[in-house]
Amino acid sequence: MRTPIIAGNWKMHKNVGEALETARQLEESVQGSPVEVVICAPFTSLSALNALGLSKVRLGAQNMYFADQGAFTGEISAAMLLDVGCEYVILGHSERRAIFKEDDELINKKVIQALKMGLKPILCVGETLEERRAGQTEDVVISQTTKGLAGVGADELPKVVIAYEPVWAIGTGETCDAADANQVIGKIRETIAELYTPELAQKVRIQYGGSVKPSNITEIMEQSEIDGALVGGASLNAEDFVAIVKY
Ligand code: PEP
Repeated sequence: MRTPIIAGNWKMHKNVGEALETARQLEESVQGSPVEVVICAPFTSLSALNALGLSKVRLGAQNMYFADQGAFTGEISAAMLLDVGCEYVILGHSERRAIFKEDDELINKKVIQALKMGLKPILCVGETLEERRAGQTEDVVISQTTKGLAGVGADELPKVVIAYEPVWAIGTGETCDAADANQVIGKIRETIAELYTPELAQKVRIQYGGSVKPSNITEIMEQSEIDGALVGGASLNAEDFVAIVKY
């Protein structure tokens, strides 16, 4: 049985005070939930969030660089994230791929480094609208999953969370049909089974992401292959995020 995991991606939102306020509300309201709850906050709030000593809500970052340390102006290392209490790091988000031109090779280096340092990657994969219309959805997610996991050992694999996020559904209000998402996620699991073993593939948690909100989370979580959600916009509001966690 895989523990469901619901993570909020706050993107470039919230100053420190706002982050603390939302996290406090969340921590109070999701106590006792069987869901693993994660907030991926901007770097600037992580230290203060860590100082809150949250017990139920776990901390994640939205990106990191693959080197241990050095002359990489503007970058953040895995060790720095661990130092401020992070357990998770989102890697390969479609906004990083599209706006910051991150490719599969770079994302894979980050996945390897995160695992080496003891962080759990949330590896994002997903097709654009153009790719979906061209019937390439499965090819895209198979390729991104395979390249993203290259060199990840079988012992490390269960620490990886995959987030299937169709790019056209992110921040658009347009959700992928839950049954469709389930099918694509099933394909991702099949890919992992071929790369490793069917038993190991059953241990990997795969989330759906893309305009998840309180009104559609139940149907998403009812799907057999979907183990949770990566939530952008709706995670900014504590009430909405709590409703999602309590689907
Ligand atoms: C995301 O940023 O990963 C995301 C899924 O955003 P939204 O929920 O706003 O579509």
